Amino acid sequence: MITAPFEYRRAGSVDEAISLLGEFGEDAKLIAGGHSLLPLMKLRLAAPTTLIDIGGVSGLEGVEANGGGFRIGALTRHVTLQNSDELGVIQAVAAGIADQQVRNRGTIGGSIAHGDPASDLPTAMLALDATFNVTGPGGERQIAAGEFFQDYLTTALESQEVLTSIDVPSMDGFGWGYEKFTRRAEDWAMVGVVALVKGDDVRVAFTNMGSTALRATAVEEALKGGTVDADAIAAASEKAAEGTEPPGDLNATPEYKAHLARVLTKRALTAAVS
Ligand code: FAD
Repeated sequence: MITAPFEYRRAGSVDEAISLLGEFGEDAKLIAGGHSLLPLMKLRLAAPTTLIDIGGVSGLEGVEANGGGFRIGALTRHVTLQNSDELGVIQAVAAGIADQQVRNRGTIGGSIAHGDPASDLPTAMLALDATFNVTGPGGERQIAAGEFFQDYLTTALESQEVLTSIDVPSMDGFGWGYEKFTRRAEDWAMVGVVALVKGDDVRVAFTNMGSTALRATAVEEALKGGTVDADAIAAASEKAAEGTEPPGDLNATPEYKAHLARVLTKRALTAAVS
């Protein structure tokens, strides 16, 4: 459980982080809270030659109102989201991540940039149609959450880019439901479901039902344009696993995850319209 040797650099600004990423090349990695990257390094599943610590970069932390929604700095820790009553479903999702020690260190930017389909916040960002603000050597660009998560631990971020903040649109009028099924308290999700409903605008997104966080498109299609009542929810939830490829693991077979997706989708949608 000891990492391979690595160089350590501390960036004082986003520009310095980008420049250090350029200087040390493809084997350099940013580190924020370290709670996804360091476990991988200890298991020797990752062996970056240089760690560039962005934890001290100012201006990347906190939640502020932004055009009816929120801008969340990439270095905002899970504990801050957990304590932000105005964040609705994001608060609930953050509060359910692991244990308090992990929530005290882990950042939303790290969770999103890591691109782990078992993570909880990417699922919420996908359901909320969030936008990720990214800065690289060529300047700033925006990436829609729907285009960001590309494959297992693979995102649309280029190797020299830094995720700086996340824009979450207004959630006014949306009811929400969140279900995370774990074998033991504080475990990673076997399956997680975020549901948002405003009239016939229905969004459902999954944790751990494929190689990325993903939208439950079959459920969303089934509910489009209709009344989202108990019968419609029950029928649509039966389609929850359509188009998904949940990986089997030590806790659950793909078939069991498909069953969980159906049950949890029904619960999350029911909560969203209650
Ligand atoms: P780091 O580990 O510092 O970085 C992760 C990756 O993102 C690295 O590749 C890094 O280069 C990159 N990165 C970090 N910040 C940026 C940035 N601003 N721009 C570009 N790239 C960046 N998560 C869950 O969602 N649910 C759980 O139930 C859960 N359980 C956990 C249990 C344990 C015991 C542990 C140790 C972790 C758990 N996590 C869980 C993961 C935790 O939430 C992590 O903190 C989080 O996923 C990553 O955030 P970080 O700041 O620690 O990222």
